[in-house]
Amino acid sequence: MKGKIGVTSENLFPIIKKFLYSDHDIFLREIVSNAVDASQKLKTLASAGKFSGEIADLKVRISVDKEQKTLKVSDNGIGMTAEEVEKYINQIAFSGANEFLEKYKNDANAIIGHFGLGFYSSFMVSEEVEIISKSYKKNSKAVRWVCDGSPEFGMEETEKEQVGTDIIMHLNSDSLEFLEENRITELLNKYCKFLPIPVVFGKKKEWKDGKYEDTDEDNQINDVAPAWTKKPVDLKEEDYNSFYHQLYPMADDPLFNIHLNVDYPFNLTGILYFPKLKNNFEVQKNKIQLYSNQVFVTDSVEGIVPEFLTLLHGVLDSPDIPLNVSRSYLQNDSNVRKISSHITKKVADRLQEIFKEKRSELEEKWNDLKLFIEYGMLTDDKFYEKALKFFFFTNTENKLFTWDEYKTLIESTQTDKDKKLVYLYATNVEAQFSFIEAAKSKGYDVLLMDDVLATPLLNHFEQKYPETHFVRVDADVVEKLIVKEETAQSVLTTEEKNDLSPVFQAVIPKERGQFIIDFQNLGENGSPMVITQNEFMRRMKDMSKMQSGMSFYGDLPDSYNLVVNLSHPLVKKVLDEKEAVLSSDLANLRTELSKLKDQKNSLEKLKEGKKEEEVPQEEKDLLNETKEKITKVEAEKREKLEQFGAGNPLANQLVDLAFLANNMLKGEALANFVKRSIELIQ
Ligand code: ADP
Repeated sequence: MKGKIGVTSENLFPIIKKFLYSDHDIFLREIVSNAVDASQKLKTLASAGKFSGEIADLKVRISVDKEQKTLKVSDNGIGMTAEEVEKYINQIAFSGANEFLEKYKNDANAIIGHFGLGFYSSFMVSEEVEIISKSYKKNSKAVRWVCDGSPEFGMEETEKEQVGTDIIMHLNSDSLEFLEENRITELLNKYCKFLPIPVVFGKKKEWKDGKYEDTDEDNQINDVAPAWTKKPVDLKEEDYNSFYHQLYPMADDPLFNIHLNVDYPFNLTGILYFPKLKNNFEVQKNKIQLYSNQVFVTDSVEGIVPEFLTLLHGVLDSPDIPLNVSRSYLQNDSNVRKISSHITKKVADRLQEIFKEKRSELEEKWNDLKLFIEYGMLTDDKFYEKALKFFFFTNTENKLFTWDEYKTLIESTQTDKDKKLVYLYATNVEAQFSFIEAAKSKGYDVLLMDDVLATPLLNHFEQKYPETHFVRVDADVVEKLIVKEETAQSVLTTEEKNDLSPVFQAVIPKERGQFIIDFQNLGENGSPMVITQNEFMRRMKDMSKMQSGMSFYGDLPDSYNLVVNLSHPLVKKVLDEKEAVLSSDLANLRTELSKLKDQKNSLEKLKEGKKEEEVPQEEKDLLNETKEKITKVEAEKREKLEQFGAGNPLANQLVDLAFLANNMLKGEALANFVKRSIELIQ
């Protein structure tokens, strides 16, 4: 018999062959899953007493014939009668096909899924496909169907001993790679690893007489009953771990697992694992495998599960996940969306349960787990709400606290005058050592927030709780980190500041960025000088490194404060030396300045109440001249102070020590410091 396949198949074949080329791997999954389905159907019939033949050895066998250039998939499932071939294979009746094909011509999965064209995907790789099938039904005749990719097909009666179906693909010249054992093994491992009926590809091999030889044993590709299909009560911790390694042979042991088993309002099974996350988590995404009835669908679950969950590993299996559809279709599918929010909830519940039942284990594994949890808190509000119960702060003494515990700990000591709770943190225990010590000596606690998500996370906390404030320990001198009462007036007048600042400004190397010199009374035992970095600016700069669109902050120079402790004896000594060297010069300059300023003031008085054109020209000239003189004298004064500072070993030494304490003394400056130190000791 000869005939023509459905009306619009003339459009279909060229598209299958041409446009779907990039995705052609999936043909094998389609053909093997059909064979598995046919086998399962027979099993079901047998158990319902509707098939009395032998079903002992249901297997799907894949074989290649390099000479004939064929790839064969054989099953001993239910088979098809001639009428069934006619009905299921020949009649691909669909409407609106042309538009659909045009729209999705670049998306093989969408087309194949839309039309249920699983079988026809074999034409992506074949110039001719044969079906030889014999139905399980009594007295069925075997049928042979053959088609060369044109809409014409041939169908005839044939001989076949066993019930079942052989699909024989005569590979086209572009697809000869599918004659290679390795290639087929790779595809079977990807798509068929957990199919529920044994899938066999050749024989197991054995190393014998210097080469590999076939044994008698079938080489079964798949595990027909993977862990997620079993009941949690039947599985031990080892079983979960060994399944994990079955999925990811190279990975470290996972931290925890979640066995999902939902049957309402949708079907979902699966096992998710919390992997050990290294600090760089980009590379660890997309390890979750999505299955539909044990048939592999995809391992790129981005957009299908919430982004932070893509850091988890494991498998999800749901018959409600459509098998053959495009990614965009999957993302918009309402079942998929429900599944995704359900998983978020399950993950949070599981962590909460671990927290309640084995907190110490959670604490132990916290370092490997925290990035995942922090990422979830940052990106998913529902998860955030739940996670606040099991999220841990770590302090610089490596103690762990929940959100509530930590709040209780610091409430009485770290609340400032505006009733804000100030959380002090360090990002590097070594580099910020002296600041941490200073804070502790005040009775404060210091958190360690050193991972890549620390800055966004504390921003997030501050947004959620406006009464909290995070401040890095080196953001200010310890006296001012947490301001408990209205601050007293500044210790120096502007005038006095102007007289001192240049001395220290001159010592700071220009390439170190901008420094604001600040004067404080930090006591005789405080450090003579401290370098601090404004919290806001520093944090903005940190953020700009992580986010595009913030380069404004990233491009600003670092801005630091050099706090000079006026009550420290060494600072006093510098100031005394300054007096000794410069006092007469400065006194002269000051007298000159005050004279000039008096003159300026009286000239300005004369101008008062007059219009510009009423002021005599000489007066105007004199005022300008006076102003210029003031600027000049001030510059002279500043220069004198700078010269003194630059040449004063003690001032240099003190500034360098402050840099050193902040781990900021490097290169030539460090070498100079060492040299000067030796000279000072001698
Ligand atoms: P789908 O599997 O989505 O229904 P296919 O084009 O893959 O679409 O297959 C069409 C139909 O052909 C199947 O539903 C099944 O009835 C029949 N069929 C395909 N392969 C086999 C097989 N190996 N054994 C028995 N029937 C098969």
